Amino acid sequence: MDDSGRGRVNVFVRIRPPLPREEGEPSCLTVDEGETNITLQMQDGDAVERVLAGGSFQNSPLEKKFAFDGCFDGESEQKEVFVAVGKPVLRDVISGYNGCILAYGQTGAGKTHSLLNAGGRSPQEAGLLPRTIAALFVHIGSDTQNVYNVEVGTFQLYNEQVDDLLAEAGEGTRGRNLNVVNSGEVQGLTWLPCKTPEELLQAFQRGRNNIVYAETKMNKASSRSHAVFQIKVIKRARATENKGAAVKMKATVGKLTVVDLAGSERVKRSGVSGQQLKEAANINTSLLAFGNVVQALADKKKFIPFRDSKLTRILQDSIGGNSKTSLLVCTSPAAESCSETSSTLEFASRAMRV
Ligand code: ADP
Ligand code: MG
Repeated sequence: MDDSGRGRVNVFVRIRPPLPREEGEPSCLTVDEGETNITLQMQDGDAVERVLAGGSFQNSPLEKKFAFDGCFDGESEQKEVFVAVGKPVLRDVISGYNGCILAYGQTGAGKTHSLLNAGGRSPQEAGLLPRTIAALFVHIGSDTQNVYNVEVGTFQLYNEQVDDLLAEAGEGTRGRNLNVVNSGEVQGLTWLPCKTPEELLQAFQRGRNNIVYAETKMNKASSRSHAVFQIKVIKRARATENKGAAVKMKATVGKLTVVDLAGSERVKRSGVSGQQLKEAANINTSLLAFGNVVQALADKKKFIPFRDSKLTRILQDSIGGNSKTSLLVCTSPAAESCSETSSTLEFASRAMRV
């Protein structure tokens, strides 16, 4: 790993505050001072249940400690998360590298809130993506040396099918079931040029509104799909007059990919069945492949199974390449979710070894 943080995954964990229905419930997580360590405390009652269900009692301490690049507790603000997780990636994208930000965690853990909350009447609640968009244009407006072109594309990955979220409605199947080519680009994706932050925020909002949500017992707006937002930043040095002739400058292109991943929970727990179970099984194709890619990279394997799913093909040039990747792992604080949270944090630990 070098100082740039490229080529590895920077892993952050965010614990969301208890929801009204969880007030007064015990929490199973504490962020240690220094804000890079988390302690997970399993209730001994849960451990008894686990053993009753046939789980192992050996080598299963009730307390586990994890170390990450940064941890945010329930009191953390959206702004802090942006500064730590989003800003360094944006800086790289402006410099012409690719960057990637992913939110991982079980349904209801705070992924969409952290990434996509539009803010609206409470701008302090605006999530990482709207903040990144605003910060990008703040940079563009303050850079007197360069001129920029910004383009946005967004799609949903659902049942291993890529659907353009910015394709005009009423044009038949245009924008549906698009191919991912070898470079990881989505073939035929709509790219909208945006001159102002308003234009880009509007495109983002339009894409968000087109995401298909399914209902599950755990969260009524739970997403069974991966939502992907990409922003291309094309930068050229401002043309200088050189003996009357404008000098043509080479452009640098950086691409930011922001992914609101589908819920990582095991299917059984949220009580889905029928069509939804089929969807969950399919979602596992991409999420499972993503897990396997992280595992293979963490184990320094020679062969990384990027080609096993659409998601990993799309991320191939980001993860493990010369790009900065931030993984925002979201968790519920509730002791009730302890075993799910435990596997989430185990996954996050593996990503730390990439
Ligand atoms: P996910 O996308 O992981 O399924 P959500 O982002 O939809 O989870 O969050 C679940 C619920 O918790 C939502 O009602 C959301 O508003 C709330 N929530 C999540 N994170 C926070 C937070 N940091 N502060 C306040 N409310 C939050
Ligand atoms: Mg969500």
